[in-house]
Amino acid sequence: MALAELAARLNCAEYKNWVKAGHGLLLLRAALQRYVGEQIHAFHRQLVARHADRLAPSGRGCTGSCTPRGRQFQPACSLCKEWKKEILNHHTHRNGEVNWGNCRPWLWPSNSWEFAKAYMPRGKSDISGPDKCDASALLNLFNFCDHFSSVDQIKVKEVIKCRNELMHSSDMKVSSSWLKTFGNHVQNLLNEFQHVPEAERAQTTIEKLLSSDWAVYIPGEDQLDGLEGEMSQSHISEIEAELIKERLHEISLAMEAQGTMSEKDLSKMQILRNFLKNNHDLQRTLKAEIQNLEDLVQLYSQKQSTKDTPEENYEQEEGEGCPLPKRKHMV
Ligand SMILES: [Zn+2]
Repeated sequence: MALAELAARLNCAEYKNWVKAGHGLLLLRAALQRYVGEQIHAFHRQLVARHADRLAPSGRGCTGSCTPRGRQFQPACSLCKEWKKEILNHHTHRNGEVNWGNCRPWLWPSNSWEFAKAYMPRGKSDISGPDKCDASALLNLFNFCDHFSSVDQIKVKEVIKCRNELMHSSDMKVSSSWLKTFGNHVQNLLNEFQHVPEAERAQTTIEKLLSSDWAVYIPGEDQLDGLEGEMSQSHISEIEAELIKERLHEISLAMEAQGTMSEKDLSKMQILRNFLKNNHDLQRTLKAEIQNLEDLVQLYSQKQSTKDTPEENYEQEEGEGCPLPKRKHMV
């Protein structure tokens, strides 16, 4: 049954394109994770060595009472004030938004990844290291941290734009011409990392991925005869689940950031519900995530019906959920 459902989904060319592009982003991420982790570690170490008096004074540490909320952060101790200043010094948009809520500031002197998260989109507080982060986090780090300014920023922004279009596609479908353009942008970006062996290998893998067919034939009801290309059925299902999980997460973050549920959010939810209703295999895999989102929808529905203001009476994930003015930012 699961195979039949997968086959039916992949028989829709535009959905298949959507999954392939998503897989391309996962490959891009995997190719750059090690490099980014090492770079951030070295950069952090360099800052600490250069400004030891300000950033790593002996015998002084944060007590842990400096807690950011979303994009708001007023440090309570002088050490966190210095780190905040240093993070902004290396931010490419100093007057732009910084998702301080991603960070645990008391770890800044000792943990390079906590420092890196200040340059990432909202909702990354739980990501413990480069091996756990998504393509969006890495791309935003390249864009907003000046340590990566040698990477062609136009190429970075092109991939961020594609990633956002993919994740915000309301019906989880993209055209073949879009997929081709996407592939070019990803390859252009990977070209910037010719000194990274994983990036070179990813270029070949992505090229094969985008030109493969992924055709599915089902001779019998419970039997999958063959998937062309190099992907196994279970691998494709894992990729689908990961992409849809990311999409569910984005919808909940958007609702939390707005402090309300827009018509657009409702419509996205309805499309997802309809999609999952017909695909029991994905429904089973994503049960917990779907439930979390449905709980959030219910919470906001109740809030709207009792005409609460967005700021009041709802629990927020640490660092997220500040009602915000509409401003340009990366997601
Ligand atoms: Zn502090």
